[in-house]
Amino acid sequence: MILLTTSTGAKHIILLGAPGAGKGTQATVLSELQDIPHVSSGDLFRDNLKRETPLGLQAKSYMEKGELVPDDVTVAMVHDRLNQPDCDSKGVILDGFPRTVEQARALGKVLQQDGKKIDLVVYIQVPEDVLVQRLTGRWICRACQTVYHTLHNPPRTAAECDACGGELYQRSDDRPETVQNRLNVYFEQTLPLVDFYQEKGLLREMDGQQDIETVGTALLEVIQAKQPR
Ligand code: ADP
Ligand code: ADP
Ligand code: ZN
Repeated sequence: MILLTTSTGAKHIILLGAPGAGKGTQATVLSELQDIPHVSSGDLFRDNLKRETPLGLQAKSYMEKGELVPDDVTVAMVHDRLNQPDCDSKGVILDGFPRTVEQARALGKVLQQDGKKIDLVVYIQVPEDVLVQRLTGRWICRACQTVYHTLHNPPRTAAECDACGGELYQRSDDRPETVQNRLNVYFEQTLPLVDFYQEKGLLREMDGQQDIETVGTALLEVIQAKQPR
């Protein structure tokens, strides 16, 4: 038997969906199950902000308003992360990137230059009223970034992380005034990516309104269906 391999076996998966769709929640679990690094552009920005790096300071005002950080800054940051050894050998689960058609084109280009490609884009669909309710009830662990929800995924002990005992906090951009702007930005600037990846035959749609475990199982099935036998 002749084995023809065209890639390194690394997997490049994009989770596409509105703020609050459940991308981070699913990516965290999937990353462990499949041993593929989880890269969240929002987490990268927040980490830079916390450390007060020049990149963090550049991103700050956009994040506070719920606007997108400019494409060139964002693409450079994610590209840097993709070049690290873990992503280079195992691929990546991208969460929150790309968020504009320009970012998607830039991503395609840098992967191509490295002989890599996007394998799959999963679009997690959730209606707008549910998104608002999810974002305004979201709590995050300050220490390990595990995501909770006051109603749908509460911690065992109030305001304390199940995983590490860390303190839980609410993101300032999850306040109702900023949430609506973020959703508007999503519909205007990110939703066009659904057509963009559909046309490339890479898109799979998923009902993100089901409970967390059901979405996780469906996601795993879609990914395994893509794996070479
Ligand atoms: P995103 O990364 O897409 O912005 P998150 O994963 O942070 O979304 O989820 C947003 C909020 O919704 C969190 O509070 C999370 O606990 C909750 N959540 C995620 N998935 C579901 C789901 N399938 N059903 C109910 N709540 C969910
Ligand atoms: P959510 O998925 O809940 O909307 P994220 O954590 O992904 O939130 O993003 C938080 C903020 O970080 C965004 O509102 C935006 O300011 C910035 N950001 C994250 N990813 C990108 C991106 N790909 N392009 C531009 N800005 C981004
Ligand atoms: Zn924690």
